[in-house]
Amino acid sequence: MAEHRTDVVVIGAGFSGMVAARELRHAGLSVTVAEARDRIGGRTWTDERLGGLKLEMGGAHIHWSQPFLWAEIHRYAQPIHRNEDPERTNWLIDGRFHAGDGGELVARLARGFERYFADALDVFPQPFEPLLNRDAVARLDRQSAVSRLDGLGYDADERALHHAMWSLNFCGPFEEGSLAQAVRWGALAHVDGEFLFSALDDYKLGNGMGALIDAIADDAGAEVRLSAVVNAVEQDDAGVRVVLDGGDVLAASAAIVTVPISTMGAIAFSPSLSAGKQAVIAQGQVSRGFKLWMRARVDDPGPWIAMGTVPHPVTFARRETDLGEGEVLVRAFGSNARALDLTSLSDVQAAMEPLYPGIEILDIACHDWTTDRFARETWPMFKVGQVAEGLEALRAREGRVAFAGSLLANGWTSFVDGAIETGLAAAHDVKQLLRADRARSRVGARNCAHRSLSVR
Ligand SMILES: Cc1cc2nc3c(=O)[nH]c(=O)nc-3n(C[C@H](O)[C@H](O)[C@H](O)COP(=O)(O)OP(=O)(O)OC[C@H]3O[C@@H](n4cnc5c(N)ncnc54)[C@H](O)[C@@H]3O)c2cc1C
Repeated sequence: MAEHRTDVVVIGAGFSGMVAARELRHAGLSVTVAEARDRIGGRTWTDERLGGLKLEMGGAHIHWSQPFLWAEIHRYAQPIHRNEDPERTNWLIDGRFHAGDGGELVARLARGFERYFADALDVFPQPFEPLLNRDAVARLDRQSAVSRLDGLGYDADERALHHAMWSLNFCGPFEEGSLAQAVRWGALAHVDGEFLFSALDDYKLGNGMGALIDAIADDAGAEVRLSAVVNAVEQDDAGVRVVLDGGDVLAASAAIVTVPISTMGAIAFSPSLSAGKQAVIAQGQVSRGFKLWMRARVDDPGPWIAMGTVPHPVTFARRETDLGEGEVLVRAFGSNARALDLTSLSDVQAAMEPLYPGIEILDIACHDWTTDRFARETWPMFKVGQVAEGLEALRAREGRVAFAGSLLANGWTSFVDGAIETGLAAAHDVKQLLRADRARSRVGARNCAHRSLSVR
C-alpha cells in the first residue's frame, strides 16, 4: 500500500472540489484531488451523444444572478448562449391537452409562483444569509412544500400545473420537500416568477460546462487522481488519512469532502461525523428524477415548451435546437426516474406523444444519476426540517475535515453556483486552519530554542 503526502486532499472533482483545489494551489499549498470517476466535472458532464451532438447530461443552465458561477465564466472568458423564447406551449393536465402561444403558460405560471413565494423576502431578507430570520425559516421548514398549493386560490388546473412545476424544481416527490427550501428560490429570484424561469432555463455555456471545469482544472494545476474511490477518512490532531479503494493512503494536514450527500454514507469517517450530519445523511434528500435528451421529428421546428402534470412521467420538455430537415433536439425532465424506461424508445415515444401530438422520437440519450454510485441524486433538495437544522450542521468543519457541495450553499443551493460558493468557503477555512497550524509550530519552535538556550 502506497502512502502519498500532500498538504490537502480534496475528495471529488466536481465544481466545488476543483474550485477549492485551485484556491489552495494558488495559496502555495500542495493538493491532491481524489475523484472516483474517470473524468472530472461530477454532476456536470458535457458528452457527445445522439450522433456527435454535445449534450449536457447534468447541470447546464447558468444565470447572471448567480454571482460565484458568473465570476468563473468571465474569469475564463467562456461564451454564453441564450435559448430562444418559445413560440408555442403545450400542456397536459390530467390527460387533457391544451396549446397556447409562446409566453402564455410561462406568464400564467410566473404569476402563480409569485403568490406561492410572496413572503420570500420577509423570511429570507438577505437571500445569501438563509438563517438570518431563523424562527421564520424554522416555521416554513416544518411544512411540506406541497402544503402551500392549497390556500393560494389556484383553480384545479393551476394547482396541477404548479404541482408539476414544483415536482420539476425538486426533481422528485416534492411532498417530501421543505417549504423553506422552495421559498428560498423565490427570495433568490427577488419574488419574480419570470425571473426564476429565466434563472432556471434561459442561458447556457456556448462551449459547455466541460470547457469551464477544464479551465478551472488547468488553472489549479493540482494533482487529480481519477478512478480513486475514497473508502475512509480518518483524522487525529496531527492530520488526515484518506484511504482509497485498493488500500493506498493520501496523508494530509487537512481534507475537503465534496461528495453528494446521497453518497456520503459510503465513506467511513473516523471519528464519526457529527450527529447533525449523520441525521441528514440518514434521511436523504428529495431529488430522484431524470433529464432526457431526444432527437425527434416534428411538423414545425420552431421553439416550444411542453408540460405534463404528475403522474405523467415527463413534467417538462423544451425544443432545444432545430437540427434541420424537420428534426429537432428536445430536452426533457421528469420527477421520477423509475416512472419511465429511460433506455426505451417506445416508452419515451408514448410519454412524449400526449405532450406533442404527432412527434416522432428518433433517438434518446440519458444518464440515470439516481443509480449512479457516485451521485445517487440529481440536484439535491432539502426535505422537511432540514433547512433550519441541517444546513449549518452540514457546512460545519469537523476537526481537519471541511465540507463543500451544492447542497451546502448559503445562496443558490443545489446549483453549480452553490457548489462554487461552498468550494471557495471550504478552501478559505482550510487555509486559515493550516495558517494557525504554522503559527503554532513557529511558537513551539521558538519556545524550544529558548529552552535549549537557557539550559546552556
Ligand atoms: C440532470 C441534472 C441537471 C442539473 N441542472 C442544473 C442546471 O441547469 N444548473 C445548475 O446550476 N445546476 C444543475 N444541476 C445541479 C449541479 O449540476 C450540481 O448541483 C453541481 O454540479 C454539484 O457540484 P458538486 O461539486 O457539489 O458535486 P458533484 O458534481 O457531484 O461532485 C462530487 C464529486 O465527488 C465524486 N465522488 C463521489 N463519491 C466519491 C468517493 N467515494 N470517492 C471519490 N470521489 C467521489 C463524484 O464522482 C463527483 O465527481 C443539475 C444536476 C443534474 C444531475
